[in-house]
Amino acid sequence: MRLFLTGGAGFIGSHLAEALLARGDEVFCVDNFDPFYARSVKEENLREALRSPRFRFVEGDFRDRALVRRLLAESRAEAVLHLGAKAGVRPSVEDPAGYVSANVEGTIVLLEAARDLGVRKFLFASSSSVYGDDSQAPFSEDSAANRPASPYAATKKAGEELAHALHHVAGLDVVCLRYFTVYGPRQRPEMAIHKFARHLAEGRPLTVYGRGLLERDFTYVSDVVAGTVAALDFLVRTRPCFEVFNLGNANRVRLDDLLDVLQRTFGRRAELRYEERPAGDVERTWADVSKARRLLGYEPRVGIEEGVRRFAEWFEARRGAAGPPHAADGPGAASGGPPADASALRRPAATAERR
Ligand code: NAD
Repeated sequence: MRLFLTGGAGFIGSHLAEALLARGDEVFCVDNFDPFYARSVKEENLREALRSPRFRFVEGDFRDRALVRRLLAESRAEAVLHLGAKAGVRPSVEDPAGYVSANVEGTIVLLEAARDLGVRKFLFASSSSVYGDDSQAPFSEDSAANRPASPYAATKKAGEELAHALHHVAGLDVVCLRYFTVYGPRQRPEMAIHKFARHLAEGRPLTVYGRGLLERDFTYVSDVVAGTVAALDFLVRTRPCFEVFNLGNANRVRLDDLLDVLQRTFGRRAELRYEERPAGDVERTWADVSKARRLLGYEPRVGIEEGVRRFAEWFEARRGAAGPPHAADGPGAASGGPPADASALRRPAATAERR
């Protein structure tokens, strides 16, 4: 299949690209190396995929209508996989407009281009954050999810709703995937697990929000990728189609328990500094995945102990090879925001292409 993938230089997108290439698909990828975290990390994420003759990469911004139309036409894609976004709950509290621009405007540009160029199949990466603090756990796709607790969550819900509108008025087939706290090799550097691992390795105290009682449904990246590929196949064979699926591990892990697993796995103890839950963070996430099980054959396979062990292997191997995986770690990163060391980042040049 020929696929148009946004955000393929990111954490989940780069794993997805590799899985699709491994099964013989052609992947045309657009990513603008958004400076949320270091460009060098994203270039490294792309390295494996770039070995494939069936992978094409263009550096560009999916808010650019003319560019998106030109590239989508050129790709002759049968489906759009829209994983690109400004991700992360906490930084969205400071920059709602930036999140709307990337996640809402960007999504409508892609939906319109898909409609106009007759690319009927559209997969949208949404988020468990749409469930906010009011939904009953475990979260089911049927719940209203109309009280987002952060600007990021609101932009993801808006993306789902725009996709629904284009399904309704223009006949696009759509699948929205609500990912639950994804982790594994290449995880974004500001996310829990990666950030804790880095601070553990550096002997720094760990800042624990919500007094350690927050719960997250941590989902290993290979499970999310398998679910995404299954959802793509479902999307391709289903017409008409508008479906929303939770892709989680279907287990809650308390932050305190995660910290135990991490400290045991890395064989280090750290001083824990407890702080109040930051604005935008929800109390818990917990996926009901029965719909994905039923319609996609989705089955999460990697539990938290095994997942953290695999993450630690990757983390240590990278540290051994090239020093700390992510040098940038200023106050922004410590509070869950983007790396503060902007000198590590280069602004994306004009559209550049690599094969
Ligand atoms: P990521 O930041 O690693 O990847 C996102 C990619 O999108 C980046 O490479 C970035 O450069 C690119 N991008 C951003 N704005 C762009 C633009 N205007 N034009 C082109 N490219 C642009 O994030 P991730 O963790 O891999 O998340 C992937 C998707 O999954 C996102 O849509 C995110 O919202 C969603 N999601 C992730 C998680 C998680 O736990 N990681 C959970 C729920 C939802």
